[in-house]
Amino acid sequence: MKRTHTCGELRSADIGKKVCVQGWVRFSRDHGGVEFIDLADAYGITQLVFDPEDISGGDRNSISEALRSFTRESAVSAEGIVRKRVKGTEDPKNKTGEIEVLITKADVLNRSRTPPFELGDQKESVLPGEETRLRYRYLDLRRPEVNEALRFRHRFVKAAREYLDKSGFIEVETPMLTKSTPEGARDFVVPSRVHPGTFYALPQSPQLFKQLLMVGSMDRYYQVARCFRDEDSRADRQPEFTQLDMEMSFVEMIDIQNMIEGLVAYIWKSLYNKKLETPFERISFSDAMNKYGSDKPDLRYGLPMISVTDIVKDAEYDIFQKILSKDGTAIVGFNVKHEIAGDKIGRNEVDRLISFVKSAGLGGMTWMRATKDSLDSNIVKYFTPEIISKLRERLDAKEGDLILMLAGPKKNVLETGGLLRSKLADDLELTDKDTFKFAWLVDCPMFEVDPASGKKDPFHHPFVLPTTPLDTENAGGASFDLVLNGIELGSGSIRIHDPELQRTVFKMLGISEERIDENFGFFLEALGYGAPPHGGIALGIDRLVSILLGKESIRDVIAFPKNKKAQSLLDGSPQKVDDEKLEELQIISMAIGDIDIEDIE
Ligand code: ASP
Repeated sequence: MKRTHTCGELRSADIGKKVCVQGWVRFSRDHGGVEFIDLADAYGITQLVFDPEDISGGDRNSISEALRSFTRESAVSAEGIVRKRVKGTEDPKNKTGEIEVLITKADVLNRSRTPPFELGDQKESVLPGEETRLRYRYLDLRRPEVNEALRFRHRFVKAAREYLDKSGFIEVETPMLTKSTPEGARDFVVPSRVHPGTFYALPQSPQLFKQLLMVGSMDRYYQVARCFRDEDSRADRQPEFTQLDMEMSFVEMIDIQNMIEGLVAYIWKSLYNKKLETPFERISFSDAMNKYGSDKPDLRYGLPMISVTDIVKDAEYDIFQKILSKDGTAIVGFNVKHEIAGDKIGRNEVDRLISFVKSAGLGGMTWMRATKDSLDSNIVKYFTPEIISKLRERLDAKEGDLILMLAGPKKNVLETGGLLRSKLADDLELTDKDTFKFAWLVDCPMFEVDPASGKKDPFHHPFVLPTTPLDTENAGGASFDLVLNGIELGSGSIRIHDPELQRTVFKMLGISEERIDENFGFFLEALGYGAPPHGGIALGIDRLVSILLGKESIRDVIAFPKNKKAQSLLDGSPQKVDDEKLEELQIISMAIGDIDIEDIE
């Protein structure tokens, strides 16, 4: 028997046809001697019927015998005749819900052990915990929801490849066994047996190689690239993940941004048949921090923070006075408009917001309600009519609006303000899952400077071209981030192509000459052979696909993800390695070589 149709294919037009369908027994039930089976495959579910009374050809006994082995999730094959379902038993939710297949021949292809959980379309609440599903991921993949997520991901990547191909990009594979590329995480290292005591690093991204491809005149490169970062487990991180990685020669920032907007719009059209609004909104790093307290602001809603330090600094309110007497402090206000909050934030909710702000590390929060022509709260008595009127104007306060104020060290205020803003948006349900608001974070700094030690770290990575002289305070870098609904999807930049400038930046980052030569000597050498001006970007595919599908986690869109602790529950990795193997790699002897034997005893 060979399958003639998938389980998602048969319709009323097929009634009367003799067919063969194959798939998995999802569910079976006996209705007074008549047996109904939901046969499932990747494409849908077809109802099979075995009615001993009503058999058009076929051997009842052998069918009945075979059906006894049709246990849940066994792989089976059935031949039969397509017929219309009895009136009233149609299932309009199922594409094949008008028909059923009356079995004339049945075979078990491979009997299944009792599955550890049901694989239908059931709600999250009846599924076992994620750990069990990851342990049996191959079964979890049979669930329509997971199956559809991987198919969506495939269509996404396919559309991206089509667009990039049309735009003159070529896909090039770069090495997996390589030297360290600094993207700010630890490397996974792979020992070399042939050269004992030496190690490859798995790429944190193809950064250096894609730049070398530009030196090598490839002009427009892309890759669906696997990246490996050994980071401490965080809620939604995976030690290996996939980027859509790109690089272009002879371009400026705007060319890369235009290309990405075209790419995302093309994907939108392919997946949703909808036009995506471009160009994306641009927001400078400093505006993002000052207004939204985040370098990846969610722009689906407003609720900006507004500085009011200059207005309230003269109020005779002790708490503000005390805070502002210290350097680097600020006071900001939010206007939670009555139009969006209605009566949802009363006294109790305000108390909860105050606790939230305290747990985020600020001393507290001041609040007031706008009345018809003033402000109402127990601290307003410290404000002169002039302060009140200026506050009302700056915050655009209208009757019924709720004004929240945060005061403290500026960095702390902005960060807490950012968290408070997202909390308010969640509480007031301002984050519509079907709204996709892309934005570019631009005018980024070149470095992140630790205020205590003065130590510089790259804001993006060390290959970004500076846009101001490097010794300027708050030097700028030619990097930009793509942000969607408060999540960073990827970063891009114009790169340094002058080896001397690249060396200077490495040095500013505190890397010694010796280390520069050892780690990046080959790269600096390559830049010295007429490296073209170039730049690129990488988008996190797992993240983007998971947002588009409204999934909680990137694990939901990866075929075989690790759990939150970076373990694969399916195959049990990471695993201990036999001593023999370690000896062959000379790892045991090296490790022991470092340990004082007396310590062991
Ligand atoms: N390699 C960078 C990253 O992984 C992306 C880029 O600069 O193109 O974030």
